Amino acid sequence: MNSSLNAARRRRELDEVRSDVVDVLVVGLGATGAGAALDAASRGLSVAAVDAHDIAFGTSRWSSKLIHGGLRYLASGQVGVAWESAVERDALLRFTAPHLVSAHPYLLPLTPAVPRSMAASLMAGYRLGDALRAAARTPRHLLPGPSRLAARRTLTLAPYLRAEGLRGGLLSWDGRVVDDARLVVALARTAAAHGARVLTRCRALALAGDGARVRDELTAEEFDIRARAVINATGVWAGELTPSVALRPSRGTHIVLRPGALGALHAGLHLPIPGERNRFALVLPQADGRVYAGLTDEPLDGPIPDVPEAPESDIAFLLDVLGTALDHPLRRADVAGAFAGLRPLLDTAGAPASLGGRTADLSRRHAVLRSPDGVVTVVGGKLTTYRRMAEDAVDAACPHARPSRTARLPLVGAGPVRPGTPGRLARRYGSEAWAVRELMREDPALAEPVALGITRAELVWAVRHEGALDADDLLDRRTRIGLVPEDRAAALPAAEAALAYS
Ligand SMILES: Cc1cc2nc3c(=O)[nH]c(=O)nc-3n(C[C@H](O)[C@H](O)[C@H](O)COP(=O)(O)OP(=O)(O)OC[C@H]3O[C@@H](n4cnc5c(N)ncnc54)[C@H](O)[C@@H]3O)c2cc1C
Repeated sequence: MNSSLNAARRRRELDEVRSDVVDVLVVGLGATGAGAALDAASRGLSVAAVDAHDIAFGTSRWSSKLIHGGLRYLASGQVGVAWESAVERDALLRFTAPHLVSAHPYLLPLTPAVPRSMAASLMAGYRLGDALRAAARTPRHLLPGPSRLAARRTLTLAPYLRAEGLRGGLLSWDGRVVDDARLVVALARTAAAHGARVLTRCRALALAGDGARVRDELTAEEFDIRARAVINATGVWAGELTPSVALRPSRGTHIVLRPGALGALHAGLHLPIPGERNRFALVLPQADGRVYAGLTDEPLDGPIPDVPEAPESDIAFLLDVLGTALDHPLRRADVAGAFAGLRPLLDTAGAPASLGGRTADLSRRHAVLRSPDGVVTVVGGKLTTYRRMAEDAVDAACPHARPSRTARLPLVGAGPVRPGTPGRLARRYGSEAWAVRELMREDPALAEPVALGITRAELVWAVRHEGALDADDLLDRRTRIGLVPEDRAAALPAAEAALAYS
């Protein structure tokens, strides 16, 4: 079946779901829900999957974009979580999304804040992480091992580091997705290719074991979707639909620096957070030239916003941490944008008190919970482990279904890339890049860049095939132009033109 999502398909499938009974209704189209829709549809089940807003509207688009092997969890003794991460990273790198996920180098500068004993134990940790890589069968050419660098080489990779007192650096490698929202769109489209009905702007108002009351947010019309099984994959909002699920959200903020703000940065950075054990700030150069730096971990009390705000206090904190390692301290004016996401951490009774109430220390493992009305909620976990979460949720919701097939199921775009395809397009579209180029050939005006090298053709492609329904979908999720407010304002007319063109 066709993987293209667009307004016409949405209209048609909305009509269909009103009269059908589906095997599985998935609520929420983040990585977990889109993954569950794919997992169920590829087992041959009929699926409807709804989101109140858009694909990747929630936490999934605010991540650090690391597809990580779980090193942090090893350090805190959560070996099972680390192993699961390493296995899922392997699946993404080798089989399911090799066009979107690749290895990136990270440098831990050996500054005076990193004593020799700490450097030795960090290196031992990296080696353990490399052993997990080998056990998960990820070849070394896809994910190189760690090494120690001299100070000169360290400064070549990160020229803005403070040279004074620098003893060198520890270089390690981990997976990263080019854009978290693109991974979720690829999941949703692959689910659609297996027959799932993927319906954005459809808010679940109430759930039961046999379906949901849903409101079409474009028309305000309410209707029922009847289902044999219901999966609540609404992340940090899960408790609003299933009150027995208690969450303890924590806010993570990243700042966005303009291309070049940290010089010619050739590796990500791990910078120790002063006064903390085993917590590091991350500096993450992106394929589009911007640099993200994060991240905070602050418990959130009160109502859960649709789009969390990054407070000035978080931005100041991150600038301070970067200032501990840089030769040219950054100023507030260097911050072009900021974003925050809410971690859907489970409030496991007893753990918060015993850990002093720190969300940074709560387990990052996922949970699959069945409530008395029969709804299965899947929550917690990570972007990296979305596939395993999805498999566990479908196993729980549909115990008689055939086994999951997703561990080796390539996502849309995972096929061979035609020779001569520009690298930027190949990294975002994989085997579909030629079709995006074809649009530019048919109408050369579509080759015009909008921002960050993104062309008008890509916006038109997103409307025709990636389910973008309005300018917000285009600027904030199908592309990430919107992370910098001035870039967003400049690109808005192009987004509106793409909607009219399509
Ligand atoms: C700052 C930060 C950094 C992170 N970095 C990483 C990282 O680098 N690597 C990693 O592996 N993990 C990372 N994580 C964790 C990871 O991002 C999350 O665990 C994961 O994205 C959660 O996905 P989800 O699909 O469960 O939830 P979400 O992505 O939040 O999806 C839930 C969806 O449900 C929808 N929804 C809500 N209510 C309703 C309703 N009533 N009806 C219909 N739809 C509804 C929302 O619109 C949303 O789209 C990070 C998390 C944070 C906060």
